Amino acid sequence: NGKPETEIIKELQAKYDDKIDLETIKTFVDFPLSPNTIKGLKASGYSKPTDIQKESLMLALAGKDILGAAQTGSGKTLAFIIPILEKLFCKQWTHLDGLGALVITPTRELAYQIFETLRRVGVHHNFSAGLIIGGKDLKFERKRIDQCNIMISTPGRLLQHMDENPLFDAVNLQILVLDEADRCLDMGFQQTMNAIIAHLPVKRQTMLFSATQTKSVKDLARLSLKDPCYISVHENA
Ligand code: ADP
Ligand code: MG
Repeated sequence: NGKPETEIIKELQAKYDDKIDLETIKTFVDFPLSPNTIKGLKASGYSKPTDIQKESLMLALAGKDILGAAQTGSGKTLAFIIPILEKLFCKQWTHLDGLGALVITPTRELAYQIFETLRRVGVHHNFSAGLIIGGKDLKFERKRIDQCNIMISTPGRLLQHMDENPLFDAVNLQILVLDEADRCLDMGFQQTMNAIIAHLPVKRQTMLFSATQTKSVKDLARLSLKDPCYISVHENA
């Protein structure tokens, strides 16, 4: 419809603190989501939210820090992609605002899958997305990195950019996501993750998703989580 964007944003934001009875949620349209995201979801074949998406979406939209646990294949990717798109949409984010959301995942393959999902679901938004993973030309990544609104990355390559690239700037960052958070935070990545986190503004929304809620995921102090919401979804097969 022809409603001005500011009007759409106001109406969405007014609903973020509503208590929605999750039993009444049938499709993504029952959530306060922007028309662009709804269109992207539909075109990608997503109509009914999965349990982890249902349980986490309103909390994420309300800006809460989230610790989400649900088994592999349960749809955790959209549980953070959708809130990222909505947050940047509501902030009317443009390329001038720089990096708004950072997703860290342990492997290149996962990063690539998340990037593809973001591209499909986010196609009607105007954000630029970057894939920062090893094995690509660092110089090429480097030139474009300052134009990137949403970055999907692996820890080692991300830190390399932070350390070596003067164009890297996370000062406006709104959302940090750790996908497969237990793996991101386990010993192999500990030093790298600590160094990355030290580069990020503390005032941000942080979302951790993994298959299990391990002890290291509960290492909240390290990530400056504020009063996080624990969401755990177990499917009874
Ligand atoms: P996880 O990260 O929890 O392992 P993914 O986010 O990779 O799970 O999703 C697993 C599969 O489920 C993917 O193929 C994805 O396209 C599909 N999927 C996710 N959400 C939905 C949904 N709401 N409706 C239908 N399929 C979905
Ligand atoms: Mg996943």
